[in-house]
Amino acid sequence: MNEHTLIVGAGYAGSVMARELADAGRRVHVIDKRPHIAGNAYDELDEHGVLVHRYGPHIFHTNGERIFQYLSRFTEWRPYEHRVRGMVGGAPYPFPINRDTLNLLYGLDLDEAGAAAFFERVREPREPVLTSEDVVLNSVGRDLYEKFFLNYTRKQWGLDPSQLKAGVAARIPVRTNTDDRYFTDTFQAMPLHGYTKMFETMLDHPNIMVEVDVDFAEVRKRGGYDHIVYTGPIDAYFDFRFGHLPYRSLRFEHEHLAGVSQYQETGTINYPNDHAYTRITEFKHLTGQRHGGTSIVREYPQAEGDPYYPVPRAENEALFKRYEELARQEPNVTFVGRLAQYRYYNMDQVVGAALVAAKRLLGRGEDI
Ligand code: FAD
Ligand code: UDP
Repeated sequence: MNEHTLIVGAGYAGSVMARELADAGRRVHVIDKRPHIAGNAYDELDEHGVLVHRYGPHIFHTNGERIFQYLSRFTEWRPYEHRVRGMVGGAPYPFPINRDTLNLLYGLDLDEAGAAAFFERVREPREPVLTSEDVVLNSVGRDLYEKFFLNYTRKQWGLDPSQLKAGVAARIPVRTNTDDRYFTDTFQAMPLHGYTKMFETMLDHPNIMVEVDVDFAEVRKRGGYDHIVYTGPIDAYFDFRFGHLPYRSLRFEHEHLAGVSQYQETGTINYPNDHAYTRITEFKHLTGQRHGGTSIVREYPQAEGDPYYPVPRAENEALFKRYEELARQEPNVTFVGRLAQYRYYNMDQVVGAALVAAKRLLGRGEDI
């Protein structure tokens, strides 16, 4: 009989694993405790017929050609380059900070060399660069740090940038040119018919059985699988034996604006200093959908609720390492994904991690 694998979670990690194992001839049972597939990338038409991302804006971008090609088996694409403005003092500025941001904010007329000299003058050199505060002060200095980063980060994480590892703020580049794209990756596109459709196609395989609205806790008792792929929070798998790993959560406030064809000038506007929410995203920019109304989402960070973000700080990583050691000793279980590996992964990185994990599991590690 071919081997029977249980996959916990129908997001990127679980679905890519499912497809790889199924293509290799294994029988796969995918479960998710939510009533749908696609994990946090889930999108659907809202009650007004606008395609929205239930769990906040998801923009696909990657430099990994192999990853883009892999997903292209399951979807066509719509080219899309995301743009963001940071609202400071009631006015929108290009974000990430670029030369236009400086010129608009300070009433200057800097060219590229002038912008570089400006950053050189205002930056507070830090050595070593360990925290997110170090990253930002080291590159743009205190005024820009306070206007664009300090309060946004406090809101998003409930922590000061000095309490977060450098990698968090290092996601945001600083530019001396006028490029106002949020990402500069080679491949930037949205699934033409949405993420959920892409996942449906990925999971549409005779060896894959999908069951939603089912918690691992129930299925675990039954047993009967040769292998388990677990993509949920790693601390939950081990019944929080060493205590809870912090995962930051969000509350999403969706709103439809009837008769408003466009609400804001860019896909996302960040509000570092005002409001309890961090940002507003208008989905039609992302999807290219035409509709007489428009739908937006506001993101309110919170400690409690569904786990969305691992919190990158040394003490959490130390606790994760203890769970990872347990995971290593767990026979016949693969832990993969943003929650199971406790890594601040983007979608493409999860696809990459799942492809690697699938190859290992199939005994093809030498191909990696
Ligand atoms: P998930 O998508 O979280 O899937 C895990 C699944 O496991 C969930 O569906 C969950 O219900 C299920 N599960 C957990 N426990 C159990 C259990 N006990 N029983 C059954 N099922 C269980 N990435 C980008 O590349 N670009 C973006 O623009 C972007 N924007 C984002 C915006 C927000 C607000 C958030 C939160 C994330 C964003 N990401 C973005 C990151 C992206 O969402 C993740 O990288 C990706 O979805 C992680 O996939 P995953 O399979 O590891 O986890
Ligand atoms: N950030 C900030 N101000 C902004 C946008 C981002 O201070 O206007 C910081 C903040 O700490 C945030 C991090 O940069 O958590 C990464 O931002 P990104 O937009 O990549 O976050 P995500 O989309 O993953 O929520």
